[in-house]
Amino acid sequence: MEFINLSRQYKEIEKEVNLGIKDVLSSQSFIQGNQVFELERKLSQFVGRKHTISCSSGTDALVIPLMAYELKSNDAIFCPSFTFFATAESISLAGGTPVFIDSDRHNYNMDLNFLEESIKRIKGEGKLNPRGIISVDIFGLPCDYDRLESLAKEHNLFLIEDAAQSFGASYNGKRACSFGDVAATSFFPAKPLGCYGDGGAIFTDDDDLAEKMRSIRVHGQGEDKYTNVRIGMNGRLDTLQAVVLLAKLKVFEKELESRDIIAKKYTERLKNDFITPDVPFGYKSAWAQYTIEAKDTKSREHIINHAKNKGIPLMIYYKTPLHLQAAYSSLNYKKGSLPVCEEICNKVFSIPMHPYLSDDEIEAVVTAVLGS
Ligand SMILES: *Cc1c(COP(=O)(O)O)cnc(C)c1O
Repeated sequence: MEFINLSRQYKEIEKEVNLGIKDVLSSQSFIQGNQVFELERKLSQFVGRKHTISCSSGTDALVIPLMAYELKSNDAIFCPSFTFFATAESISLAGGTPVFIDSDRHNYNMDLNFLEESIKRIKGEGKLNPRGIISVDIFGLPCDYDRLESLAKEHNLFLIEDAAQSFGASYNGKRACSFGDVAATSFFPAKPLGCYGDGGAIFTDDDDLAEKMRSIRVHGQGEDKYTNVRIGMNGRLDTLQAVVLLAKLKVFEKELESRDIIAKKYTERLKNDFITPDVPFGYKSAWAQYTIEAKDTKSREHIINHAKNKGIPLMIYYKTPLHLQAAYSSLNYKKGSLPVCEEICNKVFSIPMHPYLSDDEIEAVVTAVLGS
């Protein structure tokens, strides 16, 4: 069994993808072809946001807005420690300093009480200048954006939603990628909506910010290609990837429903023996991962090895929180400083999740996990 089976999805969309690729090959419009702009319009409609700026990866979808905010090295950007490395890396690439926040013990998103205290502490210390927050909808579950948006407003911080794992999810009837000042998502193949390479998109309702980000996406261009008004990057999405995404968008709602049904089946079978994901009222997850907890690290290792012997791949997202990564050793976080996310890292594991899992496969996964 594969952790994520993309060939089954390809069977569903094969005709459309192949025709689309052929079109691009005939037009030879590989960079910023019409399909890129068609995709941007469709994504804006889907998410419910005025501007969509497609780009080269989820990482660049975070770096570009952070570059637009023109960070200084003592600008503090608050972000969770329990996330993929790119969340914090983008802050460093854009010249700011990440301040890591501990996790909520139940839903693994940022602990918003911890966040509020950290903002006050950083303000009080007077060394770093609080500028913004990046919230991550971890494993596909949106954060509490009512509280996050009001916290950001109260402390005069920008808010970026890292929705790399939550494209398609929703909170109180609003789609992921519609929260904060800017939202970023990734189209890496394994994400809920993935292309056939690297890709990403940025979403905002702010006209000025959108214009700035479009400029940064193409080398800080001004009114034409060879007028440069700021430092930018080469951050465009390929036309070929846009074609793949347009085809996948057509089956995406159906896929989200399947993910939800599969998640419910998993929960039904596993809830008596494991801590299973809790999706609170008003939330819909995109189920980028279905993640449960073992008693401790040793028992997790045992479960993973047992399942592997039965041909079931299990994965650990994430083994090391970002504040303890070697790349951030200069920030001097100590082991034990963010105890909740450290505990989560020691216990969690993810089981196969994609919209084309059969009932037999679900049963095989459940049997392997329960039988160890
Ligand atoms: C995948 C991911 C990213 C980066 O996306 P890429 O397309 O791989 O650059 C950023 N943040 C989170 C939370 C992710 O899961």
